[in-house]
Amino acid sequence: MQMHTNIAPILESSLAYAGGFLNTGRVSQYISNLAAANPAHLGCVVMEPGGVTHKAGDWDVHFSIQSISKVISLMYALKTLGHEVVFDKVGMEPSGDPYNCLIKLETAGEKPFNPFINAGAITVISLLAENTPFDEVLDFAGRAFGASVGVDEDVFAQETHAGTRNRSMAYLMASKGALGENVETYLSFYFRLCAVSVNAAHVAHLGAVLASGGKCPHTGQEIVPQWVVRTTKAIMLTCGMYDGSGDFAVNVGLPAKSGIGGGIVSCGGGLGIGTFGPALDAKGNSVGGIKTLWHLSEKLGLHTFV
Ligand code: GLN
Repeated sequence: MQMHTNIAPILESSLAYAGGFLNTGRVSQYISNLAAANPAHLGCVVMEPGGVTHKAGDWDVHFSIQSISKVISLMYALKTLGHEVVFDKVGMEPSGDPYNCLIKLETAGEKPFNPFINAGAITVISLLAENTPFDEVLDFAGRAFGASVGVDEDVFAQETHAGTRNRSMAYLMASKGALGENVETYLSFYFRLCAVSVNAAHVAHLGAVLASGGKCPHTGQEIVPQWVVRTTKAIMLTCGMYDGSGDFAVNVGLPAKSGIGGGIVSCGGGLGIGTFGPALDAKGNSVGGIKTLWHLSEKLGLHTFV
């Protein structure tokens, strides 16, 4: 295991560096709750093995996990249903398209490309939703985030109302037999999971679970088996930042998953990292989060490919 010193000052300098780029981003306009976020917010938490945490900036501001939920749904589906069942219905290839794109559902066969674009996540959730109560997945999310977490009902309501594009892709998949018939149940499950409210410390805990091969950083208790973490991190590296995944893999070199709420979960060198910055780039990834992770990766030597 890599040893890290000086994490606290490096974290501060990473946020100072990243803060200079926030004005190049824009908060999501998808729902009014996200549009009301403060684009100047930027926070980050780094968690070491054993659970020692370093917190900086606006780490305690709550936000909805949005697409970070796709890590939760994938891990829980792999853990409870297994590799075969999940990858029978969803691929593991980068799509190179925006997260909410429908084009390949018509032109490239029935299977969504991967579990981290919306079509793939809705497919994974459709498998879970048939037999798993939402609260069971919420409990699992709480174990992964290191604290019990709840749904922001306002975000859920707004997203249910605004989700016409997600609804379109779900019905398109159902029309081809690629999704079961309880489409509204799957969508509601998906929207609820996107609306789970966390702060950067919760996200860093999830990062630490991924960093440690699936164990709680405080207790060492298994949250998911090691093979689930390996599969999830591989897909995070190749698909976690949507059509910005290649750039991120080259320049930052860490598995990561973003959400349009402004969060990014990442890990490397045994560390769990959670960032929050709601100003997004054109691909829907947090500008401040990417710059913070780049700086941390450079200064702490975290790049996967040395
Ligand atoms: N809830 C959002 C959606 O379904 C999540 C997208 C994201 O975070 N990239 O469009």
